[in-house]
Amino acid sequence: MGRGRRYWGTDELPKLDLRIPPLRRAAVERCHEGARRVRFPPRGDHPACEVELTLTHCRFGGWRPWFYCPSCGRRVLVLYWPLDAWLPGCRRCLHLTYKSQRVSRDWMSYGQHQVMQLVRRYYPAWEYADPFPAKPPRTRWATWERFCTKVQAWETRLDADLLAVAYRRFGKYL
Ligand SMILES: [Zn+2]
Repeated sequence: MGRGRRYWGTDELPKLDLRIPPLRRAAVERCHEGARRVRFPPRGDHPACEVELTLTHCRFGGWRPWFYCPSCGRRVLVLYWPLDAWLPGCRRCLHLTYKSQRVSRDWMSYGQHQVMQLVRRYYPAWEYADPFPAKPPRTRWATWERFCTKVQAWETRLDADLLAVAYRRFGKYL
């Protein structure tokens, strides 16, 4: 695999992504039933792993589920599990990179990039996995609602495109 350290790209790895509607729904249901855990499929020689979940209010109504990263305890939407890792981890723990070339090729990254660009006009430090921010005090409500509609349109398109992938990969774990 070449010399030096191998840096994985985020789209090369098996992952559980709570932005995918069926996974999101399953996670929210599980939390409401009081079982705040989700099972990560077995990976290589490693047995399946249970990961803790939590819920927050969603900006667009309803609930948004989150994983607690087993490695750092941060609240994250996506966990990855490379073959050589004992536990699933978040992007930061696994030193995963978003390669800039990939952003234009890969639809997921592209969509997320668009959402980030939108939100960062108001909040320059915002990351995709962060909770959706509140309206800035000096922004008018009409402006903010237009902005939210744009963000939601991107998220809906991302969700729709991910459905097929989610069922194919994770259907039996839902
Ligand atoms: Zn982590």
